[in-house]
Amino acid sequence: MSEHTPAERPAMPEVDRLAANRAAVAARRARADLKQRLRSGELSPLKALNDSANPDLPEATLRVSEYLQTFPAVGETKALRALDELGISPRKRLGGLGRQQRQRLEEFVRVRSGVDETPGRPPLTVLAGPTAVGKGTVAAYVREHYPEVRHSVSVTTRPPRPGERHGVHYFFITDEEFDRMLAASDLLEWATVHNRYRYGTPRGPVLEAALQGEPMLLEIDLQGARQVRASMPGARLVFLAPPSWEELVHRLVGRGTEGPEERERRLETARVELAAASEFDEVIVNDEVDLAALHLINLMLKSD
Ligand code: 5GP
Repeated sequence: MSEHTPAERPAMPEVDRLAANRAAVAARRARADLKQRLRSGELSPLKALNDSANPDLPEATLRVSEYLQTFPAVGETKALRALDELGISPRKRLGGLGRQQRQRLEEFVRVRSGVDETPGRPPLTVLAGPTAVGKGTVAAYVREHYPEVRHSVSVTTRPPRPGERHGVHYFFITDEEFDRMLAASDLLEWATVHNRYRYGTPRGPVLEAALQGEPMLLEIDLQGARQVRASMPGARLVFLAPPSWEELVHRLVGRGTEGPEERERRLETARVELAAASEFDEVIVNDEVDLAALHLINLMLKSD
């Protein structure tokens, strides 16, 4: 008789069980380390996906849902929705993906991280720079003269100025609406500007433009530009610089209607903001608006 009651079933030898436990603990540690490196940006998600084809690497045993949750602003709900759209079971591990599933996931990751190397697909372009350098004027010039460029329309909690239109210049929303968008991870980046109102870039239209291969421009502040760099490393960051320090001082403090303290505060901010230029991919000097806009357009529309 070969039947055994559970108590009699031949047990795994003690040594093997210990070895298996140790291997399982080591594999869990390796996966935790892998997730940490993905979260911190030390490891690119595309490289991890590529490496997961090798069954000896921890990448192969990482669940796709956990992999997706290492992306900025992706929690469990978002990951599950993405898996559903990609036609991948929530329990699937990276190493167990079919060829088409792998292709779909790779495309999704490329678009999500702005690393799209498809020829003719320009990356997202971010225009930032110090306060009062004239980003808004350059962006408005591009809007008027180069209709092939899409513009992200930000949400803001500040009230509209005369002539500004909802859905064109900004979506003017309440603090509660802003909070709701933040909670739903609907913003690609956001910042409180000048310690006052909040501004943010809706994520959906940016991803849509990337998917359709259309060039898109974001005109945002420096804090926002840094967030885009962290979450979409493939985005192109352009710094708009003043023709000279004196010119910036002139634009910032104007005719000196502020007191000495306010004046000093603005100058200090300008010094810090100017120092950020080195973090950017390109610097454009804003001496003439039309030339600065042309320079920007040439960068955005060139196909390399
Ligand atoms: P304004 O209130 O004068 O239109 O804009 C004030 C500042 O907010 C500008 O420096 C502009 O670049 C910045 N800004 C506008 N939209 C956004 C956005 O979506 N995100 C961030 N981070 N800054 C923004």
